[in-house]
Amino acid sequence: MQNTSPAKIHSTKPRRLTTPAALIEAGLAAPERLAEFEAVAERYAIGLTPALAGLVRPGDPADPIGRQFIPDGRELVRDPAETDDPIGDDANSPVKGLVHRYPDRVLIKLVAVCAVYCRFCFRRERIGPGSASLSDGEFAAALDYVRGNRAIWEVILTGGDPLTLSPRRIALATGAIARIDHVRTLRWHTRLPVADPDRVTAAMARALRADGRTVVVALHAN
Ligand code: SF4
Repeated sequence: MQNTSPAKIHSTKPRRLTTPAALIEAGLAAPERLAEFEAVAERYAIGLTPALAGLVRPGDPADPIGRQFIPDGRELVRDPAETDDPIGDDANSPVKGLVHRYPDRVLIKLVAVCAVYCRFCFRRERIGPGSASLSDGEFAAALDYVRGNRAIWEVILTGGDPLTLSPRRIALATGAIARIDHVRTLRWHTRLPVADPDRVTAAMARALRADGRTVVVALHAN
């Protein structure tokens, strides 16, 4: 009989699920789907945290949380109109990792990894294990660009998920951005508080604080 209880997920030490086999071993999909998942995994990253895996109804391909994270062979069907950069980041990227689409704000893509990998992600071609995050030098170049554009009052930190960084590295980024006098707001875009709530700590909250600046955390929840 099929196990329909999430309890199976919690009965062993919780771990992040990052492979097709792990998803199936966790009871989140039927073993017959292994080849389908492996084909998708050759192109797109897989990642599902225990916190979210425990909310998926095992074995139900229509489960709304499972559908966000469990691969589907249809991801490999590509319409001729689709591109690798559907939101046009590259066309608006004057320096690596920075997107300047609107006159008064920029995105800085600090990291290329996430706690979970969403099947619908519009940056999925560029993120996942093995994708390069910004080096210190590239981050410095992005800051130079912001410094040289006084119209920019908001810096949006994104990725990937920038809150996957350690509090130490978050604090370094916060401090460096907050030292640019015309930047008034730092906005962090993240799924981490939903995907891996245990990683939201007092140390992280302290690292996000930027004296004299507004700090916004935009939480992505589906
Ligand atoms: S957490 Fe955000 S950046 Fe990461 S895969 Fe999901 S939608 Fe994409």
